[in-house]
Amino acid sequence: MSDSRRLFFALELPGETQQQIIQWRADHFPADAGRPIAAANLHLTLSFLGEISADKQRALAVMAGRIRQPGFTLNLDDAGQWLRSQVVWLGTRQPPRGLLQLANMLRSQAARSGCYQSPQPFHPHITLLRNTAHAVPIPPPGFGWKVPVTAFALYASEFTRGRTRYTQLERWTLTE
Ligand code: ATP
Ligand code: MG
Repeated sequence: MSDSRRLFFALELPGETQQQIIQWRADHFPADAGRPIAAANLHLTLSFLGEISADKQRALAVMAGRIRQPGFTLNLDDAGQWLRSQVVWLGTRQPPRGLLQLANMLRSQAARSGCYQSPQPFHPHITLLRNTAHAVPIPPPGFGWKVPVTAFALYASEFTRGRTRYTQLERWTLTE
């Protein structure tokens, strides 16, 4: 029997922001543009860990709990499409230093624990649509949500009955 789970560190989004984002998405993208991500699943991944045993999860959580840095504000002022991975995303033109610092720290902790981390540079983004087989017009980023980020969390991802569900396992507040 395996005790491993598919884990990742991510930033959660306030429920209100999730609702505003899906409204904006419904207003600006045709229904057949791709598979919309459910409001509650909208998140920004900081470090993807993969299949992790309970022991390694504990070790990663201890390291994450040692991170000391202040919160920051995420300005969601950019959107785009990656044709190769077939996603439409929401992001930020100028990632705040705190976001890069947090992701770098979690990614290097993960790498040191033997979790494969992509050598690609970190592109902070919130996936809005998946399986976008064709290029879709991306509306100008006239929305500009400013999201205060005061915490980060560890999630398990589970695919059951045709749906991907994320479960928040642990959450850490950003404080110096
Ligand atoms: P699904 O794959 O079931 O359609 P999902 O991609 O949201 O949904 P996961 O594959 O479990 O669910 O991924 C969880 C998070 O980690 C997502 O934000 C996803 O983009 C990211 N992720 C998944 N695989 C990788 C990877 N190899 N490298 C970097 N990030 C990844
Ligand atoms: Mg996936």
